[in-house]
Amino acid sequence: MKIQSWLVTEPNTPMVLESREETPGPLEVLVQVKGCGVCHTDLGFYYDGVPTRHPLPLTLGHEISGVVVEAGEGAEDWDGKTVIIPAVIPCGKCEACLSGHGSVCPDQIFPGNDVHGGFATHVKVPALGLCPVPELPSAIALEDLAVIADAVSTPYQAVIRSGLSEGELAIFVGVGGVGGFGVQIAKAFGAHTVAIDVDTQKLELMKAHGADLCLDPGATDFRTMKKEIRAFAKEIGIPTWRWKIFETSGTPQGQQTAFGLIGHGTHLSVVGFTPKKIELRLSNLMAFDATAQGNWGCLPNYYPAVLDLCLQNKITLAPFIEHRPLSSINETFEDLHAHQVERRVILIP
Ligand SMILES: [Zn+2]
Ligand SMILES: [Zn+2]
Repeated sequence: MKIQSWLVTEPNTPMVLESREETPGPLEVLVQVKGCGVCHTDLGFYYDGVPTRHPLPLTLGHEISGVVVEAGEGAEDWDGKTVIIPAVIPCGKCEACLSGHGSVCPDQIFPGNDVHGGFATHVKVPALGLCPVPELPSAIALEDLAVIADAVSTPYQAVIRSGLSEGELAIFVGVGGVGGFGVQIAKAFGAHTVAIDVDTQKLELMKAHGADLCLDPGATDFRTMKKEIRAFAKEIGIPTWRWKIFETSGTPQGQQTAFGLIGHGTHLSVVGFTPKKIELRLSNLMAFDATAQGNWGCLPNYYPAVLDLCLQNKITLAPFIEHRPLSSINETFEDLHAHQVERRVILIP
């Protein structure tokens, strides 16, 4: 099939629209893209020179929902199905995959990094791991579900790995995008939630969507903020070993804040990405008997549960997303880079 996609030829240079022929091979499908979310990671590839695993030129985009329009040999059952494509697609048969470590599968496929991604009319991906989407209620559009592929599923896996359980305290540092969905997931798990962000508008939104305590580190010094969180935790009777902190800002300041909040037995999950370094006393982990854990994407087997939370309205997508035409891609990247967009942008072909 003849498809069109936006190519990055070199960093920081406007993407160009190209046409090419795509045919799914064995166990592959061709998905007609309904929506593709723009992620912080795409901006890192495009502006900061973070190298993609497949050399440029490459089409970015890894938050994709759509419809299978062509299926290769062995994937025929997917033909015509409505799907969400996981941002990280493990191979499912290597030693890492078979031992439950699919997130570090050396043969994983990350659309828009290993292969051409979703800023296109169509994208070719392996059928393995696709998340089938049932018939949707009229209030939820298929294109909106694109954000599940990373912004919603990634904090979900981080929450699962942290062992967060009912009545515990979940603290999210950075609630634009990933963190905003993280707060809602933690709430759905029955946790008490703290949202930290320098953007007061984002905090306002979180107040209406699951955050019990909202804090602006720009309006107060770190010690005072830490005291406020301790006072809140004391009031609800949650010791620091039942605190799960999620760094979802992907900024050096956010990482300092998240690490600085660690207490005895606390679990810290590093979800956001920045190529920048910070200085910290790693021995705090030892002294506090605390845990720090990274998180790369989300295993495809968790996707149906994440989708279910969205369909049950335990995770609300609409106030956190914005639609734009795919043809505005260069302009949209500029706007996002200039921090002129409050919501997660979904590009619609
Ligand atoms: Zn992403
Ligand atoms: Zn594998």
